[in-house]
Amino acid sequence: MTSLDPKSLPLSRYLPRRAVRLPTTEKRHAAIPCVDIHNHLGKWLTGDGTWMTPDVAELIRIMDRCQVDHIVNLDGRWGTELQENLERYDLAHPGRFSTFCHVDFRVLAERGNATQTLVDQLHEAAKVGARGLKVWKNLGLEFRDQRGELVLPDDDRVAPVFDAAAELDLPVLIHTADPVAFFEPIDQHNERIEDLATNPDWWFGKPGLPTFDRLIDALEAVVAGHPRTTFIAAHVGCAAEDLRRVSRMLTAYENLHVDLGGRMPELGRQPRAARRLIVDHPRQVLFGTDLYPVVEQEYHRWFRFVETDDECFGYAPDDEIPPMGRWDISALDIPASHLAALYAGNARRILRLPVS
Ligand SMILES: [Zn+2]
Repeated sequence: MTSLDPKSLPLSRYLPRRAVRLPTTEKRHAAIPCVDIHNHLGKWLTGDGTWMTPDVAELIRIMDRCQVDHIVNLDGRWGTELQENLERYDLAHPGRFSTFCHVDFRVLAERGNATQTLVDQLHEAAKVGARGLKVWKNLGLEFRDQRGELVLPDDDRVAPVFDAAAELDLPVLIHTADPVAFFEPIDQHNERIEDLATNPDWWFGKPGLPTFDRLIDALEAVVAGHPRTTFIAAHVGCAAEDLRRVSRMLTAYENLHVDLGGRMPELGRQPRAARRLIVDHPRQVLFGTDLYPVVEQEYHRWFRFVETDDECFGYAPDDEIPPMGRWDISALDIPASHLAALYAGNARRILRLPVS
């Protein structure tokens, strides 16, 4: 047995093993065939132009074993890249994938009618087969107009894009601001400090950027201002730290939905509040993982998290420092009566997929 001077141990090497002993409920597949509404299968996030999932046949084998019937690929982008995504997934494997497009908000900084260009891009994407629009959080934090001003999601120049989405029957999956800690001072109180140390670009507390609250208010204004457009606010409404606000918004806006993508850590530290949200809004919460590249064991963890009443387990592999904060999670124990809608029914309705 080795020992060290505890005072000399840096936080970055601290990896405690939990002493609590509890049973582990293995879930190797979803209880019913499910739809993963939030995933990334494209090229733009790998950084080197390769596909996130190099072997599609292997991905489909994992999906089959896990009872993941359908995956939404949020990485369609536009133009040739959209076409490549559609050919690789939606067209090559009918019924298994829906690719969402992006629009190129960089045109807001160019001369001419940027709004019309964005609307035209969306029409073009719908025509070639995009099944929805993904709006990333760089709308509000990065894209600027010709005068150099940031364009927020509730800007009048963006509004016609959301109207066009309604006309084209394309749901809009939107990520704004979240998480809260990325807007707070980097100091000893910041709960994501290790995450921010690894990814300093993720910090938005800099002067000149909108606050978290301004951005979430913009998201709400967009949802309220476009009642005919179907919105899926990513990562539990972009406010997983404040489920009372998410619940209030879901009650107020029938056109609003939320996915669970990437927020197992947040929900798992408030499992009773999270369960309540899902039970109270049975038509508006969608299963999604944001698990990329897909790892089969991580799907297993999601099913354990959704379906069982296991307590005090890791949201990341035990040999890794938990990236989103050093805490354990407890599972949601979603009642069987609510699993069908959460796992598949709501997504199938929104994506216009046949009922399996
Ligand atoms: Zn994502």
